Amino acid sequence: MGKSTLFNRLTQSRRSIVGDEPGITRDRIYGEYDWDGRRFRLVDTGGIVPDDPELIPTEIYNQARVALEEAAALVLVVDVRTELASPDYDLVKLLLRGTKPVFLAVNKVEGEAMSLAAENFRRLGLREVYPISAEHGLGIGDLLDAIAEAIPLQKDAQEPEAEPVPETDDERAEEDEISEGGPVEPGVEDETHRKVHRTHGEFEQHETSVAIIGRPNVGKSTLLNALTGTARAIVSPIAGTTRDAVDEVVEFEGNQLRFVDTAGIRRKGKTHLMAEKLSVVMARRHLEAADVALLMIDATEGVTASDATIGGYAHESGRSVIIVVNKWDAVTTGRKDGKPPADREIFERQLRAVLKYLSYAPVIFLSALERTGLGKVMREVKELAAERRKRVTTGQMNRFLERVDFQRAPVPMSKRVRIFYMTQAAVAPPTFVLFTDRDVKLHFAFERFLENQIRDAFGFKGTPIWFKVKARNEKKEE
Ligand code: GDP
Repeated sequence: MGKSTLFNRLTQSRRSIVGDEPGITRDRIYGEYDWDGRRFRLVDTGGIVPDDPELIPTEIYNQARVALEEAAALVLVVDVRTELASPDYDLVKLLLRGTKPVFLAVNKVEGEAMSLAAENFRRLGLREVYPISAEHGLGIGDLLDAIAEAIPLQKDAQEPEAEPVPETDDERAEEDEISEGGPVEPGVEDETHRKVHRTHGEFEQHETSVAIIGRPNVGKSTLLNALTGTARAIVSPIAGTTRDAVDEVVEFEGNQLRFVDTAGIRRKGKTHLMAEKLSVVMARRHLEAADVALLMIDATEGVTASDATIGGYAHESGRSVIIVVNKWDAVTTGRKDGKPPADREIFERQLRAVLKYLSYAPVIFLSALERTGLGKVMREVKELAAERRKRVTTGQMNRFLERVDFQRAPVPMSKRVRIFYMTQAAVAPPTFVLFTDRDVKLHFAFERFLENQIRDAFGFKGTPIWFKVKARNEKKEE
């Protein structure tokens, strides 16, 4: 619909992983676009709003707050065919409270009559009103021009500017229940960035935050109970400061594992569809507070579109991921439908085909109900927590680069770049800066080749690896 279409058009991405239920037809949280020789970072704060009207004002506030903090300019997207309601005015008031320029994009304006209708939206009190059609690509240039003009050029021109698309009117019924906490951007500032958005207490090295995410009824509560029940000491349930979030901290082999927002995990949705939407929203919220995510799949159902959506968010969030295939008992020892017991290898192959982007995530088959495989989960969490914080020295990296045979990378000649050297700029997730001969975006196949080589050499089990490119000539000018 409106905002996603605009987002996809600007970032030229079309990585759809979803079905046609409204509200979960979402693609990406953030992306980039180039305009007039500059690069802009686009943050989509959108999502889903619960069916409980009482929650809506706070959630709108949360979105606005994040947008105000993060972005250099704000774009509010509304559908020309919808009526304005009081939450819209409230939202605008909040957006204007900050010092950031606010733009109103009135979407789905195609033709004369619609242009007139767009004028109605001036009642919101925003001066910058831009009629657009995200689908047909109308009016977008003017909007981007105005945005570019409003955002001052940064001196070091190194970091792209941010600009969020807060929400659409036509998605009122499906909007976000949460604050998105902004994007997680690769780079040196990652650690500070995360602290700002951590809502579940300060980060400590010996503590690992774990999010249990997945669709309704995959067994999240059952697994949580099993894990916290078997662990040696339940330290305490700690009430979060900002919401009614409750974390449970468990000690395992000298490490503290903090299961984030366990109240949220246990919360049940009202209708099936709403529960399904909420599970996506909750996953995003929980990921924000986590180091490691347990992505739960129901073995009796296989990998569904919603699993893929949630998995996509996990991947993009930069968190380490363990894929937990639950209810394994029900398709093996406890099988009642007369079929032969399921085979791990076959199941995993099918799962990996759907969750391609999570190729680095280990898979564990278990039964939360019968409490099998729990120790394995704990050990993997501990290992992944260490892996994602690992640091490779520049010396090690240089020796590694000398060994890599880049001729073997399956990349067309024109897309090749020469890497002069490479450093690890950040941990959690490990982020590498490549100093190259040309300022180009890394070719997908090249990036994958490099990533695999790094994993072969250094491990980084369970965590995504991020790359940034810096062209050498760019460096000379500094
Ligand atoms: P949640 O909505 O993800 O928190 O799911 P629940 O933990 O409430 O579990 C949903 C249903 O699946 C319950 O009836 C559980 O008893 C059942 N369940 C959970 N784990 C397993 C398992 O490992 N095996 C089987 N057979 N059933 C399970």
